[in-house]
Amino acid sequence: MATETHDGQDCPVIYCDQVGDQLVFDCPHCTDRRRRRHRKHYHGLGEGRRVAHCAEGPLCDTGYILKLRK
Ligand SMILES: [Zn+2]
Repeated sequence: MATETHDGQDCPVIYCDQVGDQLVFDCPHCTDRRRRRHRKHYHGLGEGRRVAHCAEGPLCDTGYILKLRK
């Protein structure tokens, strides 16, 4: 996974899709056990660093950089 350095921390870059007025991606670290697939995280529009929506996992420490998939 690509990373970018923000404030001295390496943050993973996550590519997401715009759906309506939100950015959406399938989180590589969060799984919905009942549905046996990755959970989606939703953020407001705008690329850049965000606080992770994960309940746990490595992204919670760093957040992530959202980029729009072109
Ligand atoms: Zn997650």
